[in-house]
Amino acid sequence: MLIVCAEEVRVEAELVGGRLWCPSCRGVLGPWGHGLERVLRCSSGDRLLRPRRARCRGCAGTHVLLPEVALSRRRDEVSVIGAAIEAKVAGEGHRRIAGRLGVPAATVRGWLRRFVERAGQIRAHFTRWAIVLDPELAPLLPAGSSIADALEAIAVAARAWVLRFGPMPVWPLVSVLSAGALLCNTSSLFSPVW
Ligand SMILES: [Zn+2]
Repeated sequence: MLIVCAEEVRVEAELVGGRLWCPSCRGVLGPWGHGLERVLRCSSGDRLLRPRRARCRGCAGTHVLLPEVALSRRRDEVSVIGAAIEAKVAGEGHRRIAGRLGVPAATVRGWLRRFVERAGQIRAHFTRWAIVLDPELAPLLPAGSSIADALEAIAVAARAWVLRFGPMPVWPLVSVLSAGALLCNTSSLFSPVW
């Protein structure tokens, strides 16, 4: 899985121009058809995705290029999932969050349960990113709970990214920095820090 810019024209140009790299071996990726069509539920309405597939010229592995607005194996836009996570850390229950976001309660419960289970790993991952992006970074202070610590690490990494590279919304950036695997249950899907 490789997370790319949501602008299809730009991704196509980068893919054809050999400017996208394999997440496994850093070889050059070339076009390799398309992945399965899927519907992404967005706050602005449903969006049909037809993600590009790419094949590595080095290791011959194939990868689905998922836009940064999505997470791997999740039908909802990453910003909506992120809003639910922020509300959970602020103390709101999953039913209220679901009602407010217009998403089934069981879906929200699934996201939040996974975030709670992986909070330590997520914190460690985004803390590593934050330090890579800003080597002068002061140590992160405990935020009061494991999920608050994880969200704080995400926020610090996102701030460090913006200071270095310019504006980028937090949750699409989370998708990029986790290779789409924020809420996946296998740690191997987490891409290593560059
Ligand atoms: Zn490769």
